[in-house]
Amino acid sequence: VIEFRDVEKRFGENIVLKDLNFTVARGERVTLIGPSGSGKTTILRLVMTLEELTGGYIFIDGEPLTHQEKDGKRVPVSKKQQKKLRTRIGMVFQQFNLFPNMTVLENIIEAPIHVLGRPKKEAIAKAHSLLDQVGLPDKADAHPTSLSGGQQQRVAIARALAMDPEILLLDEVTSALDPEVVGDVLGILREVADSTNVTMLIVTHEMGFARDVSHKVMMFDGGRVVEEGPPEKIFTHPEHERTQKFLGAVL
Ligand code: ATP
Repeated sequence: VIEFRDVEKRFGENIVLKDLNFTVARGERVTLIGPSGSGKTTILRLVMTLEELTGGYIFIDGEPLTHQEKDGKRVPVSKKQQKKLRTRIGMVFQQFNLFPNMTVLENIIEAPIHVLGRPKKEAIAKAHSLLDQVGLPDKADAHPTSLSGGQQQRVAIARALAMDPEILLLDEVTSALDPEVVGDVLGILREVADSTNVTMLIVTHEMGFARDVSHKVMMFDGGRVVEEGPPEKIFTHPEHERTQKFLGAVL
């Protein structure tokens, strides 16, 4: 469902990703691990089209997300095509990124109504059911600033799910949270993983969570995949010295 083909990402002179090739199958949950600065967040931001792709191609369900090859040249896809594909992708950020001037309910119904064109009544009904799911049934009219970090992140999860995404990108979603609420948020995401077939690309420092929910773990270093495999294998018998060293430091 996601394919990276010869992906290169540079910020000015700094080449962050180089010749990156991988695919994620439908329903697969893949966790990206690796040292700080290895490019994990950049990968998610590229899929969300929040960063410009400087080389290569990304395909969603076989369709080019940002660029395609035409007559031997790499040319950008239309804005329309990009927008269409992007509606299938949801993202939850480290810093929640809720709209501060809207209520919780308004945050959740905004995109379903304005991007998907769903009837307001339907969007509201779904938002309430998602708020139940994330354990915040009585917070619909609250403003994000009045909520704790853990609560804001649960709203952000509900907002992403309101779009019925095929692909969910989770970018260090518990890194900004107090330790005592990390478990709640991860519990909600475990439930989402168990109860849906949504494809997930996850960046996390929570190795227990990664081990539980992912089908595959990819270890990055210097913008390249140094090792990948099922979590049981990567966490207990990492082959590559970089992986051994990294896991030695974080586990
Ligand atoms: P972390 O775990 O610390 O978030 P990461 O593996 O997710 O690390 P990225 O955030 O993807 O790493 O960053 C990879 C590299 O890209 C870093 O060297 C960073 O400095 C650089 N980088 C990221 N975003 C930008 C930007 N907007 N402008 C310039 N350089 C950037």
